[in-house]
Amino acid sequence: MNTIAQRLAQIRTRITQAEQRSQRPPGSVELLAVSKTRPLCELQVLNECGQQTFAENYLQDALPKIAKLNDRITWHFIGPLQSNKTRPVAEHFHWLHTLERLKIARRLNDQRPAGLPPLNVCIQVNISADPDKSGLAPEAAEALAYELATLPRLRLRGLMTLPRRQNDFEQQRRPFRELHALYTQLRQDGFELDTLSMGMTRDLEAAIAEGSTLVRVGTGLFGPRKSLQ
Ligand SMILES: *Cc1c(COP(=O)(O)O)cnc(C)c1O
Repeated sequence: MNTIAQRLAQIRTRITQAEQRSQRPPGSVELLAVSKTRPLCELQVLNECGQQTFAENYLQDALPKIAKLNDRITWHFIGPLQSNKTRPVAEHFHWLHTLERLKIARRLNDQRPAGLPPLNVCIQVNISADPDKSGLAPEAAEALAYELATLPRLRLRGLMTLPRRQNDFEQQRRPFRELHALYTQLRQDGFELDTLSMGMTRDLEAAIAEGSTLVRVGTGLFGPRKSLQ
């Protein structure tokens, strides 16, 4: 049985090796620990090993952990977000990765407390047009990006995608390559983006090969999840 500390070391090694293979500078890919459904004590262990950024998918699961862990942690919300649930995200998180609707963006902008810096957001893109996945069509992302520029309490940082499960490395790379192309296009159009949120436990090497700056890893750090997802 691996411990959390051992798993963290393994994931860090995978990231470092993937960076090297793509001739990317060491440390250019950030590790986001996806702690959905995991108990507080496991997050504490990982935090004591030096992990400072965590991601959650379910508000009722996340809020008690946020209240109890130390305030140096950066919290990312990566779950689907309904418009009646925006306030806790605006008040308790530093990042949201799953933005796809202007209505939600406006609510978050209005609800972000004045004492906090703007909420960092990524637009979720359904890059492979998968009917089972959420996210905006790539053609619609730029229009939303222009709208977000008018909302001062949000800061657009980049793009996120959650592609369909694939086992073959080349198949895994294709949607990531397409998201990177969209990201490059938006940057050429003047958006100051620095975050490509792509890659999880099973496909982080493919995502890093295609320019990911942030991988979202759950089971690779905590082991298999029992319930929910
Ligand atoms: C659960 C989840 C992850 C982590 O997936 P693993 O396969 O456990 O690494 C990453 N991103 C999103 C959006 C998730 O919901």
